[in-house]
Amino acid sequence: MSLKEYREKRNFTKTSEPSGKDLGGDKKRGNIFVVQEHHATHLHWDFRLEMDGVLKSWAIPKEPPKVSGIKRLAVQVEDHPLEYANFEGEIPEGEYGAGTVTIWDKGTYDLMERTDDKILVYLHGKKMKGEYYLLKFKKAGEKNWLLFAKKASKK
Ligand code: MN
Repeated sequence: MSLKEYREKRNFTKTSEPSGKDLGGDKKRGNIFVVQEHHATHLHWDFRLEMDGVLKSWAIPKEPPKVSGIKRLAVQVEDHPLEYANFEGEIPEGEYGAGTVTIWDKGTYDLMERTDDKILVYLHGKKMKGEYYLLKFKKAGEKNWLLFAKKASKK
């Protein structure tokens, strides 16, 4: 299933990250978005959107853009369970993604457009507000996307 890769990478007797087992059959549909600042081997930000009952996830090596005019590489990583949207804490030394995770921004989003290589959302965060594009950036590799804020239209 969708969370197989997520679970295979982690040892839930050691990490306090959610296993995702609480998902159950009662799939509550929501539209969470969350960005977690992750001080792992390399500092990065994990951008996640609730889609298809999981958190679709991208790792961003630099702080995500709060305004238009900045494009960030966003590398798609394994789907995460919905409960991960509330996760903050320390992933122990020796475990996958070891380091500190804090929530950098969180809110809901409106899906405006979604195709295989393009996602347009309206983010209702504290730091990320407004329309954002995720566009596949195949030249740089299969899992690579670009994340950027759409320019506000001129009146
Ligand atoms: Mn991460």
